[in-house]
Amino acid sequence: MSLIDAIYTRQSVDRVDSISVESQAEFCKREAMGENIKIYTDKGYSGKNTDRPAFQEMMADIRAGKIQRVIVYRLDRISRSVLDFASVVDVFQRHNVDFVSTMEKFDTGTPIGKAMLMIVMIFAQLERETIQQRVLDAYSSRSKRGFYMGGKVPYGFRLTETTIDGKKTKMYEVVPEEAAIIEQIFSMYAQPQTSLGDIVRWLNENQIKKSNGAPFSRPRIRDLVINPVYVRADYQLYEFYKAQGTVIENRPEDFIGINGAYLYSGNEKKRKTVSLQGHILVLAPHEGIISSDIWIKCRRKCLHNSKIAKPVKARATWLAGKMKCARCGYTLSAKVYHCKTKADNRYYLCNNKYHSGGCNFGSLDADIIDGLIFEEMRKKLEEFHTLSKQRQENYDLRVIKLKTRMEGIDQEINSLLDKIPLANGAVMEYINGRIASLDQEKRELHDEIVKLAEAPNDSLDEVTGYLENWEQISMNDKITVVDSLIESVIVSQEKISINWKI
Ligand SMILES: [Zn+2]
Repeated sequence: MSLIDAIYTRQSVDRVDSISVESQAEFCKREAMGENIKIYTDKGYSGKNTDRPAFQEMMADIRAGKIQRVIVYRLDRISRSVLDFASVVDVFQRHNVDFVSTMEKFDTGTPIGKAMLMIVMIFAQLERETIQQRVLDAYSSRSKRGFYMGGKVPYGFRLTETTIDGKKTKMYEVVPEEAAIIEQIFSMYAQPQTSLGDIVRWLNENQIKKSNGAPFSRPRIRDLVINPVYVRADYQLYEFYKAQGTVIENRPEDFIGINGAYLYSGNEKKRKTVSLQGHILVLAPHEGIISSDIWIKCRRKCLHNSKIAKPVKARATWLAGKMKCARCGYTLSAKVYHCKTKADNRYYLCNNKYHSGGCNFGSLDADIIDGLIFEEMRKKLEEFHTLSKQRQENYDLRVIKLKTRMEGIDQEINSLLDKIPLANGAVMEYINGRIASLDQEKRELHDEIVKLAEAPNDSLDEVTGYLENWEQISMNDKITVVDSLIESVIVSQEKISINWKI
């Protein structure tokens, strides 16, 4: 029996990162020499490691001495890691297997191909040494590879021993009965109407306590719903953090919807801001509990709800600090006048009133002013939604255009492939060049679509939800909502003008 020419093709899940496996195979057949061809195909596998069924089957056939030549469409079909690639090629060499990549014109059956292989091996060695250098930076390298860095174990998990990269460490393990509570908390909070207070109440009513026996508090629940240890991190989560400016240690294709994640603050200060900027996200070795859909919903809800843990002294208006006197520029304050015979009255007064030669702004009925401004906020949000709907439509149109172009490219590649059997040298050269540039364009289009999807989603859905439930939310929450919409309000006896933030 003659030896096999093995053709290896691979394409990742959901990501149009190359031409189709069928086209890859067509391409490779031109390089095959004998009649005995076997195609190994991994569809839906990334190149992050070599743990792919068809690939492993091929390696077994190589070790069994059945294969004389391995042909791929592009080098990265074998692996995206130089280290993996080098060790694979090492196996090829030990079993006298030639290796051909059609795109890079890489053929270890030729002297130049052998020389290129040497260079690849040297770079792989260099990379190994660089990695060792990095290990010296104990903290960052440990945390960035998902090592357990100490600290309190979050509710829902316990610690268990594990080994990462040959080193003993600890990782989280799900505690099933606590995980059920976590799921309940997230699914409740994902409802727009549910507040942190509602969840605390529900936990108390059902006598559910923290691991140490103490009752849950609102700040604790808040910490819990924003902690990515609970999420099953997928590409959507990657995009969410990416859009926030978080440094992400793992590659997008590692976000496969299973692992939880650790979020390290860059400067080790306790979370003071709600922004995720400057933080580092690392995939953890444990399995998450909450789907990224629900987790992100809850996380988004908290972005506008940051002041919850900080007690602010009682305020007479949710416009506190925003109201400015049109005459003198001082801040207006709301004063409550208690009245025995009828309901209390609230008035806006200029803070400059009390100084000598002070402002003669007078006073305005705060209930009326607040009502007018609330109405304006509602209108402004409606306007904003109309605008962002238009933006969304433009965006959809753009994506459709890009995708249509990608389909056009596939068709052109296929028709070029059809011409190959009849092509002579010059035509063949043209076809090769054309397909290479189409392939390149396709990858650029794909990158552009990914970038479009990563654009920050600036819809103000949460704010709208708050306005609709205005009477139910706390004064602090109202102040936070207003702060996300309004820069300042300039008030005179005749006129109110609002400076918007949106
Ligand atoms: Zn004034």
